[in-house]
Parts: sequence; C-alpha cells; structure tokens
Amino acid sequence: MGERRETEGQHEVAETKPSSTMATLTRQACPECGGVMEVKQQGGTKEYVCHVGHRLGLQSMIADKTDLVERRMWGALSQSEELGDLLEQAREGHDPAALGSLQEEIEARRDDMERLRAVIERSRVDLSRK
Ligand SMILES: [Zn+2]
Repeated sequence: MGERRETEGQHEVAETKPSSTMATLTRQACPECGGVMEVKQQGGTKEYVCHVGHRLGLQSMIADKTDLVERRMWGALSQSEELGDLLEQAREGHDPAALGSLQEEIEARRDDMERLRAVIERSRVDLSRK
C-alpha cells in the first residue's frame, strides 16, 4: 500500500521540515534520549534531529557523544571495581583447589581496570568548543 497523504485532501500534514532541506536517516542515536536521528544538510552545516525534536549541530553531537562515552566508561570502571570486590569476597572461603584460577581472574580484572582508566583519561575529544 502506498502513502495516502496527497490523496485525502482534508488537511496538510504538519510539516516541520523546511522543504528546501532533505532529511536523511542516520545510524546515530540521540545523545539526549537515544532516539533515532535524521541529519539535514543546510548549506555548509549539518543538523541532527531526533524524533522527539532534539536538535544538534555536528560539534554538539561530537561533544555530547564524547560525554556519553566517557560517562559509560566510568560506569563500566565503577562496576568492574565492584565486581572485583565480589570476587575478593568469593575468594574468602573458596575451595583451595580452585583458588589459583580465581586469583588469576581477580588479577586480570585489575589489569583491565587499569587499562580502562587509561583509555578514559586519553579519550577526551577537544574541539575547542565554546
Ligand atoms: Zn532526542
């Protein structure tokens, strides 16, 4: 079935997009709400718009995504530290025969956390935003 918007003639669809710009679906999720985003090219600039109406330029998209990635990595680091604590608790009263593999797991987690912390600290994108 085709679209019927031109055949009914009762009302015009409330068109929020200027007719001079074409919106293209992107693979970007809105950094504010996670919604699907379209991009419009307007002259030399791009505007990303999600389906609830958040509007971001390219620089804002980069800045917001950078913040989002950093927050999620800090969240992963925090959860990893908590997991390490749980593994330490599991080590107490653990079967001595299997203690070696648990200790390896704890040490591997510690190494991962150090690497993750280093990644977070060098991953900031600075576009000299104002
Ligand atoms: Zn949004």
